[in-house]
Amino acid sequence: MLLGDRSFVDREEAADFQKTGVFHVLVVAGLHVGALAFALYWVGRRLRLSRVWTMLLTLTILSAYVAIVEQRAPVLRAAMMAAIVVLGGFFFRRLDLLNSAAVAALILLVAKPLALRDSSFQLTFLAIGCITGLALPWLEKTAQRYVRALQGWRDVTRDAVHEPLVAQFRIDLRSLAQWLSGRLPQRLRKVTGDALVGGLSLTFRVWELLVLTMALQLGMLPLMARDFHRITLSAPMVNLAAVPLTGAIVPIGFLTLPTGLILRAAGKLLAAPLAWLSELLLHIVRWFAHFPRLSYRVPGPPLWLMVLFFAAALLLVTEMRLKHPLRRATIGVLSTVLIACALTMAIYPFAATRTKGRLELTVLDVGQGDSLLVVFPGGKTLLIDGGGAFGGFPGREERNGVDPGEEAVSPYLWSRGFQKLDVVALTHAHQDHLGGLIAILENFRVAKLWIGREVSSPALTRLEELARERKIIIEHELRGGSFSWDGVDSDFLWPEIVHEEVSPSAKNDDSLVLRLHYGSETILLPGDAEKQAEGEILSENNPEAMRSNVLKIGHHGSKNSTTPEFLAAVQPHVGIISAGEDNPYGHPSPELLERLKNAGVRTLRTDRDGAVHVLTDGTRLEITCFFACPGAASVAASMRADAPNYQQDKEKK
Ligand SMILES: [Zn+2]
Ligand SMILES: [Zn+2]
Repeated sequence: MLLGDRSFVDREEAADFQKTGVFHVLVVAGLHVGALAFALYWVGRRLRLSRVWTMLLTLTILSAYVAIVEQRAPVLRAAMMAAIVVLGGFFFRRLDLLNSAAVAALILLVAKPLALRDSSFQLTFLAIGCITGLALPWLEKTAQRYVRALQGWRDVTRDAVHEPLVAQFRIDLRSLAQWLSGRLPQRLRKVTGDALVGGLSLTFRVWELLVLTMALQLGMLPLMARDFHRITLSAPMVNLAAVPLTGAIVPIGFLTLPTGLILRAAGKLLAAPLAWLSELLLHIVRWFAHFPRLSYRVPGPPLWLMVLFFAAALLLVTEMRLKHPLRRATIGVLSTVLIACALTMAIYPFAATRTKGRLELTVLDVGQGDSLLVVFPGGKTLLIDGGGAFGGFPGREERNGVDPGEEAVSPYLWSRGFQKLDVVALTHAHQDHLGGLIAILENFRVAKLWIGREVSSPALTRLEELARERKIIIEHELRGGSFSWDGVDSDFLWPEIVHEEVSPSAKNDDSLVLRLHYGSETILLPGDAEKQAEGEILSENNPEAMRSNVLKIGHHGSKNSTTPEFLAAVQPHVGIISAGEDNPYGHPSPELLERLKNAGVRTLRTDRDGAVHVLTDGTRLEITCFFACPGAASVAASMRADAPNYQQDKEKK
């Protein structure tokens, strides 16, 4: 961690830190570098080195540190900033942090202009901007002068140096100390004054830290919402503990590394308090992460709101730096605008983007797995499956690697402004369908969870536990069930089971099969159903009723699904295959692709075309792919040719 190695922090811990808003303590190397520079400076002064030597020592070790961590961008940025501060302090004595930050940013941008679009570059300099532009001037106007007033508070002759209000504070302080010591036992009298001043000075330190983290929280909010989709209300409280702890851990850590290399025993001796402090930090962060309401996920804010926010922030910073500040009213108005913008981002009162009056199906690209979003004409939402982290042997998949629920499905839903889902459905409990749903239930307000057949599997148990924790209603859906939303008649064709029957393991043939009718269009979503389930569905429905214009191809395009008989009954115009590139199962099978081609089905694949988006008003289909849909032009032409027929058909009816 000290050498900028982020992999040291494991996923779960990182998530906890992110929830409580102290993630930047771990990742933004600025704090480490800053702590190192500060520690070196302090050591230099303690050793009574001259300013030149202190500066040289700090710069040398800083550059050595940058060399060790292989010049990762955030470390390099922070080191440059620290170097400019040290050099600036040497040449100009009183230096302005905001100017040094601007110089560092400028140098980096001249060297690499594209860095401006890099999110970690923006986060670093925004953090510095919040501290130097907002927090420090604010402190200067409030606590700072009283902190200075505490120095030599017994000395009456120094009162005149301070402004009248602060001088009065010193006089009050002395009389309070005198009054207190008059009332206390003899033994305590001597220390009363110092205890009072000590307590006051600690209170000011806590206040400073609170102002700092609140300014950071406020200023970073737009980028945290845009990049991490997270709002953390507990951040100022957690930082109150985390910042001093990190401040202790980092210098001890830097001391332990070289000491351990030179003298093992001494290194071990130092490592003990280091481990203890780190454990304490983790405990505090974990405790705060327990409160779900203090940290939640939101869609990224709209651009105009970000522009308004930063315009108000910039004006406020400028205002505070003016020698002759404008009226208090201006500051009041700017602060109100700033806070109103921040609240709007945190609440996100905007409606999701959707096409009114259309039924929409989006087959998301989640690699190997399934995740389908259905948006009904009136705005009801149904998410079927959530993809799943993929690894291990077929049949024994483990949850590892990138979680598509968190990395693909959630960002997609946020990008459209969704915060809640009416129903999340799980077709069957295989990892490539279930895995991502954990993140979905955590990130969104979900009203209901639909499950087909109950299975005794740890993954499903965990999902159901999470659903109960979050007060999500769990319902089991089976063949014969139906619902009608916004004019879309939907029915379940499978699974056929005795209601409370629990299967020992998840099977493709137990998949929830859903059919949606809207006007003259039908969409069939068979999950991973295979030959056997397809056969039974066919035998229970007459072939006429099976016709569907759009078919999500069963089981990622395996040759054991979408049998010739099934295909002959359904007669789809469009078949959509959801499969991962180079997946170990060889989905979709060339045999099936051939079968689809011979049946004249227009086949779209998420591994090749990206997410596939189907929109229908009940009479015609509009299909778009994330990358270009193959053969789009010719299909558009044939659709246009089709359209009059639709019209005629309707008139005949
Ligand atoms: Zn599957
Ligand atoms: Zn499956």
